[in-house]
Amino acid sequence: MEKLIVALTGAGISAESGIPTFRGKDGLWNKFRPEELATPEAFFRDPKLVWEWYDWRRGLIAKAEPNEGHKTLAKIEKEFPHFYLITQNVDGLHQKAGSEKVIELHGNIWKVKCVNCKYETYEYRTPLPEIPPRCEQCGGLLRPGVVWFGESLPMDALQKAYELSRESLIFIVIGTSAVVYPAAELPYIAKENGAEVIEVNPEETPISRIADKIFREKASTGLKKVYDYLKDRYGAER
Ligand code: NAD
Ligand code: ZN
Repeated sequence: MEKLIVALTGAGISAESGIPTFRGKDGLWNKFRPEELATPEAFFRDPKLVWEWYDWRRGLIAKAEPNEGHKTLAKIEKEFPHFYLITQNVDGLHQKAGSEKVIELHGNIWKVKCVNCKYETYEYRTPLPEIPPRCEQCGGLLRPGVVWFGESLPMDALQKAYELSRESLIFIVIGTSAVVYPAAELPYIAKENGAEVIEVNPEETPISRIADKIFREKASTGLKKVYDYLKDRYGAER
């Protein structure tokens, strides 16, 4: 593979769309306890409580629009044929901005899965008419189609993400606190295999130590600079 450019995004890229991140100032974990909301145990203990929380987040996300950061990544995909996007986000805003080659590591908040018969579908209604929602096939309990703490990531997405990270020449990390594994491992794998690592984040993260280039700013403005940099580097010879 030639001139592979890979981006890894986290909750920070959607912050400017009004979607709260998990960690950092204004992060959701300052107000909620993840072990009470984002684990399989929490769900089976109190599916109604967990669904109320997801219903609230789905409502926020439904009103959100992609911001300049999402849009710049979609533009990079259009202009650089060897570009791939890996996201930890579940909000679907990359796709809404026009990105097509998106690998979702943590699922999608619009997806629902039956815990009984494993039926999967997309459910876009918000607020949900019934909480917790029920499976249209068997009447079983539906759960959000996202990856919770303590769960493994979808194997196909994870394998693709490892492969892209190993083969990337440029690896751009945007808006992730880089503490949730295995996603946090990807920039290190890229670096070990010779990639140039670029970080876009207003705050320092563990990735800052291995980054070759850092844009210590918001995704909207930082990604414009990344775009200019890619153009300078590859634009002419593409
Ligand atoms: P995180 O909340 O742990 O970290 C957010 C990071 O974004 C921080 O480093 C912060 O400094 C940075 N940030 C804040 N504003 C920014 C901006 N305008 N531009 C760029 N960076 C900014 O997020 P994470 O690392 O993605 O955490 C992992 C988990 O959170 C994932 O599992 C993900 O599924 C989940 N999550 C997803 C969403 C979403 O889909 N929008 C929202 C919250 C959490
Ligand atoms: Zn079912």
